[in-house]
Amino acid sequence: MKSRARQQPASKPAPGRAAVMYVRVSSKEQEQGFSIPAQRQLLTEYAEREGIHVVQEFEDVETAKRAGRTAFGEMVACLRTKASACRILLVEKTDRLYRNIKDWVTIDELGIEVHFVKEGVVLSDDSRSSEKFMHGIKVLMAKNYIDNLGEEVRKGMIEKARQGHWPTVAPVGYVNNPLTHRIEPDPGRAPVVVKLFEWYASGEYSLKALVKKAAAAGLTNRTGGKPLVKAKIHQLLQNPIYCGEFYWLGQLHQGLHQPIISRDLFDQVQQTFAAANHPHHTKRDHAFIGMITCARCGCAFTAETKKGQYIYYHCTGYRGDCGNTWVREEELIRLFGDILGQVRIPPELADKLKVVLRESQSDKEKFVRTAMLRLQQQQMLLRSKLDRAYDDRLSGQIPDDLWTSKSAELQEELRRVRAEMERHEHASEAYESVGLEILELAQSAYSSYVTRNPHDQAHLVKTLVSNSTFDRGSLCPTYVKPFEVFANGSKSGDWLLRLDSNQQPSG
Ligand SMILES: [Zn+2]
Repeated sequence: MKSRARQQPASKPAPGRAAVMYVRVSSKEQEQGFSIPAQRQLLTEYAEREGIHVVQEFEDVETAKRAGRTAFGEMVACLRTKASACRILLVEKTDRLYRNIKDWVTIDELGIEVHFVKEGVVLSDDSRSSEKFMHGIKVLMAKNYIDNLGEEVRKGMIEKARQGHWPTVAPVGYVNNPLTHRIEPDPGRAPVVVKLFEWYASGEYSLKALVKKAAAAGLTNRTGGKPLVKAKIHQLLQNPIYCGEFYWLGQLHQGLHQPIISRDLFDQVQQTFAAANHPHHTKRDHAFIGMITCARCGCAFTAETKKGQYIYYHCTGYRGDCGNTWVREEELIRLFGDILGQVRIPPELADKLKVVLRESQSDKEKFVRTAMLRLQQQQMLLRSKLDRAYDDRLSGQIPDDLWTSKSAELQEELRRVRAEMERHEHASEAYESVGLEILELAQSAYSSYVTRNPHDQAHLVKTLVSNSTFDRGSLCPTYVKPFEVFANGSKSGDWLLRLDSNQQPSG
């Protein structure tokens, strides 16, 4: 990430109409020739037309190596300090400014006026809540689309795991072979890993002792340099990948990679753990973990299963006894249900929401079209390269081994492009259903909630509620924007009033 903030020559600042401008390109866009100057020109011309005085420019250029946003942070800090002087932010369009809901909240909390020049939208504190909500939904939809692209990557990994191949970075003791995309024993580290299993199986060494022995034997983590800490060694000794099996998303898969220890040795080590009386975790993951904090002491809530069937959530109590009570999962489900019940959209607004969803749908289609076009071009280019290389080989201009490696490389590129195209197709489908889900949620979060299993319920709650605090039987939510506006509105009843008094012809 390269970023900078440029100070404009201080000519007659016009108070009240002072603005900052924000421009950004991602590394991908750079490849496609999108440029900062074009954004800057658009914003400068707009500012001139509107009589807005730009006092400072912020520019983020993402590189493949780093994806933070330095200038974005600087801009937020600047807008916070210059609270009185500068109340306007100019940006090309929504996705230049926000990459996720958090960015949107950050900007929203500044309480400034944001001009999305290309989209022709100006948002300020005076904007109607419904307008803000629609805007929030657009951001949410864009983010969901991006998330879905990630989802497809995960699906690819699941498929790879199902076929018996470890889908990601090799664990200590193995290395990734970039040609075969498989893992292979690491000639340097694998022997030491074997030793660790043997040492621990002997029962003569504690984990602590093993940490020292491993360090002495020169065992370091994959990226090199650092010796393994105790928790890492503990994990390593419980990882069945070394005897040929592995877990992926909680499922055990029979691996096709080469084991470096025997099944017997692995089992022996597990028995040693049991004998050492390490607390036995049967880690059935609890649905609402990570969603509740203690209202009394601020600690996280954890869960445990009692008598093999009742799930209780309670404060971890890391800061001492805080006097909070335990709560059954069934009760939590009921409380979360009440919280979702607070979120209700007036029917007339639901209709507007449909319009926004349709609009954002066409935004997305444009995005997909552009991406597909680019991928098709890449595909054509790769195919013609492949043809050319083939001709060269036929005419004897390149030796066979060079042709083999060259064509393998191009084929691999082609596969990558095809996979990306497929990802867009899948994500597009998911996008439709997400849109419907949001609409349904906002209209009837509660009724769609009650029919689901706890894990789906938790998922639904997370869409609407970022965190909740629990205090002796009562649960207090923090709603995810933009849904908060409905929750508060439906509680105080002023949501409809506000909507009515600000009613404007929708455009
Ligand atoms: Zn507590």
